[in-house]
Amino acid sequence: MRETDIAIVGGGLAGSTAAAMLGRAGHDVVLVDPHASYPKDFRCEKLDTSQVDLLQKTGLAEALARASTIDLEVWIARLGRVVERKPSGQYDILYDAMVNTLRAQIPASVPFQRLTLSTGEENHFSQFRKSLSFRRLRTAADCGKSTGRASCGPI
Ligand SMILES: Cc1cc2nc3c(=O)[nH]c(=O)nc-3n(C[C@H](O)[C@H](O)[C@H](O)COP(=O)(O)OP(=O)(O)OC[C@H]3O[C@@H](n4cnc5c(N)ncnc54)[C@H](O)[C@@H]3O)c2cc1C
Repeated sequence: MRETDIAIVGGGLAGSTAAAMLGRAGHDVVLVDPHASYPKDFRCEKLDTSQVDLLQKTGLAEALARASTIDLEVWIARLGRVVERKPSGQYDILYDAMVNTLRAQIPASVPFQRLTLSTGEENHFSQFRKSLSFRRLRTAADCGKSTGRASCGPI
């Protein structure tokens, strides 16, 4: 049985980013997702400049920049006429390519567990417990019981 401090359930954009950042910072992390490689999924195909600014803080922007096409100018058209041209720095990239690029930044010290976590009420986290044991895992329900509050502090 493996022990871990932090289990990230879902290796999409959020989970993969968290796994890369926490793993790089030396935390004991496991990433859990049903797909070894993020499957084709048509979603956002660009990150705008405010999102890129946020990404810079993660230390992962450079890898995404290499995998993206960065546009330099946006033309805005109304009724068939160009009404504005403005400088831009959007990263254009398909969602699956973006997530898989982020996953490639996750250090080898972060194991990947191919698993679908059951979301059933009564067996909440039971699949996890088959293969993982948590030193500090608390569910929102546990927190509600112990603190009387609906929300939970950091685990
Ligand atoms: C059609 C569409 C267009 C969009 N366009 C834009 C856009 O232009 N700009 C923008 O900023 N945002 C856009 N979004 C929103 C953006 O895609 C989401 O905010 C973002 O993808 C959420 O990332 P996430 O990591 O939370 O979820 P996801 O990327 O969906 O990741 C969830 C992960 O959890 C895993 N998972 C699910 N269930 C389980 C389980 N039971 N056990 C284990 N793992 C599990 C999945 O396999 C997946 O890898 C769009 C969304 C859609 C649907």
